[in-house]
Amino acid sequence: MADDTLFHRIIRREIPADIVYEDEHLVAFRDIAPQAPVHVLFVPKDTVPTLDALDPDQPELVGRLAIAAARYARAQGLADDGYRVVINCNRDGGQTVFQLHLHLLAGAPMGSFGAAQ
Ligand code: AMP
Repeated sequence: MADDTLFHRIIRREIPADIVYEDEHLVAFRDIAPQAPVHVLFVPKDTVPTLDALDPDQPELVGRLAIAAARYARAQGLADDGYRVVINCNRDGGQTVFQLHLHLLAGAPMGSFGAAQ
């Protein structure tokens, strides 16, 4: 079911997670396998399996994820040094959980990325 992914279960508090931010629209929690000193996932409460599935009438949904990540990074003192945000989409994008989420990676210089392996 599209509305019963791992991340939906975290949002419903059926699975534990280190939640660092929540509002009426989204939840943010630490990635269980961090790829940087700070690795937080920003997940909408509305069900959207992938970026590709996002309704054109919902531009605010990704905007809220991006603004929440930026505000979190600023509040944590990470913004001046900088950070990376990533949304993986479908197989070749490396998406493994099919509820839209934005990765915030920070706390160290990011390497180059994006080359196919
Ligand atoms: P993606 O590959 O873009 O779909 O990202 C999924 C992310 O979810 C990966 O970075 C995983 O490490 C992370 N992840 C998987 N299970 C959990 C969990 N139980 N709690 C927090 N993060 C998780």
